[in-house]
Amino acid sequence: MKKLVFASNNPHKLEEIRAILSGQVEVISLAELGCHDDIAETADSLEGNALIKARYIWEHYGCHCFADDTGLEVAALDGAPGVRSARFAGDAASSEDNVSLLLERLGGVASPRRARFRTVIALIDGYGTHFFEGTVEGEILTERRGTHGFGYDPVFRPEGSERSFAELSEAEKNALSHRGRAVARLASYLRALKD
Ligand code: IMP
Repeated sequence: MKKLVFASNNPHKLEEIRAILSGQVEVISLAELGCHDDIAETADSLEGNALIKARYIWEHYGCHCFADDTGLEVAALDGAPGVRSARFAGDAASSEDNVSLLLERLGGVASPRRARFRTVIALIDGYGTHFFEGTVEGEILTERRGTHGFGYDPVFRPEGSERSFAELSEAEKNALSHRGRAVARLASYLRALKD
C-alpha cells in the first residue's frame, strides 16, 4: 500500500485521518518518520501554514506528505481568530483562555453570531502541490455547553444541529466536521489517482 506522511503527532487527528484513509494509504506520523523537529507555523494564512509543514517534510525527508491547519473564523470579528486560533489569547494560551477571550469579544454581539471552522490540507506528491478545504458553518453560543472534543467545541453549534460540537459524540462530530470534510476530499483525490 502507498505510504503518506501526515505532518502531525496529534493522536486525535491521526486516528481520525487513519480511519478515513484506511485501505487506501498507510498514514505515517512524524514520530514514526523519526522527525522530532518543531516546525514553526509562521505564515499568515491556513494555506501557508499547511504548506510550510508539508514542504518541510518533502525537503528534509523526500517523502510524499500532507499537513493540515485549521482556524475558527467569526464574522463579527472579521474572520478572527482564524490562523491565530491556537494562540488567540497569547502564545501560551490554553483552550480555556481562548474560549473566554472569544466570549468576551462577542459580549455585545446579538445571536446568531455567525462563524465557521475551516481546515486546509496541503498535499505534496509526485504530481505537485494540492490543497483540499473543508468547512462547517455555525454560530458561537453565549456560554459553554458539553464536555467532549477540544478547543472551541463547547461554544460552537454547527448549522442544522441543536447541540454544540462538545455535546456531540466523536463519530457525530467527525461526520460533519471541517477536518472530516477536508480529509474526505483528499481521500477522493487519492482514489481517482488509483483508477
Ligand atoms: P490545528 O491547526 O488543527 O492545530 O488547529 C488550530 C486551533 O484551532 C486549535 O488549537 C483549536 O483551538 C482550534 N481547532 C481546530 N480544530 C478544532 C475543532 O475541531 N474543534 C474546536 N477547535 C478546533
